[in-house]
Amino acid sequence: MFKNDRISEIFRQLEAIAGKGNVKTDEADLASYSYDSGLSMAKPEAVIFFEKIEHIAPAVKILSKAKIPFIPRMSGTNLTGGTIPLKGGVILNLSRLNKIAFINTENQTALVEAGVINADLQKALKPFGYFFAPNPASASVCSIGGNIAENSSGPSRIRYGSAGDSVLKLEVITPDGQTYIWQPDGKGPDLMNLIIGSEGTLGIITRAWIRIYPLPKHLKTYSIAFALMDQALKTAEQLMEAGISLNALEIMDKTALDASLRKKTFAFPHTMRSLLIMDITAEEQEMLEIYEKRALQICSENSSLAMETAEDEAGMEKLWNIKNRAFPALAKIAPDLVLEEACVPRSKLGEAAKKTKETLRKYRLTAGIIISPGTGSIQPHIVFDRRNQQDLRRVKNARSELTQECLKLGGSIAGYYGIGVDKRLSLNWIYSSKELGFLAKIKKSFDPYNLANPDKILPVNEDSALFEDSENKSIDSGLDAHTHTLLAALRNRADNRIASVICGSETQIKAPQETESLKKLSTRFLTTDPLLNKTDMTLKAGAGTDINALRELLRDNDMELQLPDTYGTIGGIIASGRAPEISRILLGIEIATADGTYLNFSQHMLKAARGYDISSIFCGSRGAYGVILSAVLKVCRIDDKKTFPKTSPVPFEPNEIHKAFKRAADPENLLNPWLYPLKEEYLK
Ligand SMILES: Cc1cc2nc3c(=O)[nH]c(=O)nc-3n(C[C@H](O)[C@H](O)[C@H](O)COP(=O)(O)OP(=O)(O)OC[C@H]3O[C@@H](n4cnc5c(N)ncnc54)[C@H](O)[C@@H]3O)c2cc1C
Repeated sequence: MFKNDRISEIFRQLEAIAGKGNVKTDEADLASYSYDSGLSMAKPEAVIFFEKIEHIAPAVKILSKAKIPFIPRMSGTNLTGGTIPLKGGVILNLSRLNKIAFINTENQTALVEAGVINADLQKALKPFGYFFAPNPASASVCSIGGNIAENSSGPSRIRYGSAGDSVLKLEVITPDGQTYIWQPDGKGPDLMNLIIGSEGTLGIITRAWIRIYPLPKHLKTYSIAFALMDQALKTAEQLMEAGISLNALEIMDKTALDASLRKKTFAFPHTMRSLLIMDITAEEQEMLEIYEKRALQICSENSSLAMETAEDEAGMEKLWNIKNRAFPALAKIAPDLVLEEACVPRSKLGEAAKKTKETLRKYRLTAGIIISPGTGSIQPHIVFDRRNQQDLRRVKNARSELTQECLKLGGSIAGYYGIGVDKRLSLNWIYSSKELGFLAKIKKSFDPYNLANPDKILPVNEDSALFEDSENKSIDSGLDAHTHTLLAALRNRADNRIASVICGSETQIKAPQETESLKKLSTRFLTTDPLLNKTDMTLKAGAGTDINALRELLRDNDMELQLPDTYGTIGGIIASGRAPEISRILLGIEIATADGTYLNFSQHMLKAARGYDISSIFCGSRGAYGVILSAVLKVCRIDDKKTFPKTSPVPFEPNEIHKAFKRAADPENLLNPWLYPLKEEYLK
């Protein structure tokens, strides 16, 4: 298994770049990088410590030339084996790259190196009266680079989303050692948002331009005890629906509470079986009091037992520590702890919580459960002893069943804790082999030799056959007649090598004059009734639906889209790059490929990890990668709508990765062919 000789051949070159003593191959060093916070283990062949960002690209070029895998690593707190070198390779330790280049409160941005620790950034921002929104429980040790690579977040997710929602621009080193700076500017398919959550498999994040927010003017923490978890869940649902300005909202079950409250510093009643912890915020004290009154009424209507509140920093920290202490406290119960996580649409949380408890009971496992109602994430912290084979088997079977139960409810295999090694097989449960193949094309476009953090996210091909008949997978039999007609037209044209101009209402992109002889393929008829789910905060619409019709429907329901005022069909707005902001609210899409294959990458959760974010790469794709059939969008309350500057068309400037993906997705260049005109080059 060990291929030490391939490292020794390039050892001197690597050391010349990284500095003497910074390339480690001692057994002890390798052993300490053979595990992270997940369950998998494997030793690397070397570990390189980087002192300067400028050293990374040359080292990657050497490793890439030698075809040796490389795995970016920060604090190693990811929970799914994301840094485990299953087939050997070199760990790129970037944790010393921890400078904050600037903090600019005027335009609310900061520039940080990827190794900056989350809590250090918060400490640096505080004197300016600002903060970085993603606040995972591991904040004192995890890095901003790791947060972005995993698209992590903490309790503040209900208001600010996850790490990716606070990223404005990224510097990325691709697996061939090229350095790029990407932002969603509409000039080409959105690669920045594709990198977010890609766990180092598409490239290495070196610097991030991030959004920072002013500390809330008025903030109050509440911890509310309930006799039943169902009551806490119902309360959470009603609080979210009532439009109360929530800054954080989490729920704990009895096992998590018992572990965390062992020292009994709180006087909660002994009948408490669930605790809801929340932050309410407001610009004015008066408004906070109005929110508080409404919130407490909802709590009492749901039979809350008792409450503690805090407005000062120490008090708020004490209340939140009840939740933050749960992980270390549970970890003391048994030799091992695995933090399982899956997510479901918000409307299915109650059912998912019930199923989770039943499954844990069935496998006789002890677990403390934490729930993030804002995003439908359920996190059983399972305690066990991995030395006991039976214990280990029960944990593995239970994890798989927990995920399956969430999938049956329309959920996903993960929300926040990534896929890594530990969860990659589960992707077979949600995607067909064609959909997995499309995800693999993304990986290949970035990394043709599979060197950047291999064996993460994508399942190995052979496994897909095992789960081909899974009931969670998409099939095209439920599609409407217009979609079937469009798919048939694509198949027919592909068989006859006829290229198409993909168009919506033709307000955003027009084919150039000289392409008039090409056949049009319009998405305007893809307008099946839009599906608004007010609890899930999602809206599904056919690609041909006019945005103004959607806005009207939303306004009738006191809802809106966080988008600039733009016009055209929803598919056209996504593909044109005219409103790049759409990638922030686009949760999923259904597409047709150039050969008329139907692929379903849609989902109804506000945050789910499901492999690469196909939606991102279709934002600004201008119809050249595939035809968007429908989109699921995140909606907001009408009062939360921001104002945006006016949009204008931007020129198309594809880079080498855009071209590589075009080659993979549409090898015959049949869709909007004038955009990538050098056909011979794509067929290489
Ligand atoms: C006790 C505990 C509590 C936790 N609580 C939370 C929580 O509340 N919310 C939450 O979301 N997560 C939580 N986590 C999970 C974990 O802390 C997060 O996933 C975190 O963002 C990982 O950061 P890291 O610096 O440790 O990254 P690592 O674990 O080192 O790396 C994570 C992944 O990103 C890749 N990677 C690292 N750096 C880069 C880079 N520069 N460029 C590209 N890829 C890179 C790695 O290869 C790996 O796949 C918790 C973990 C623990 C142990």
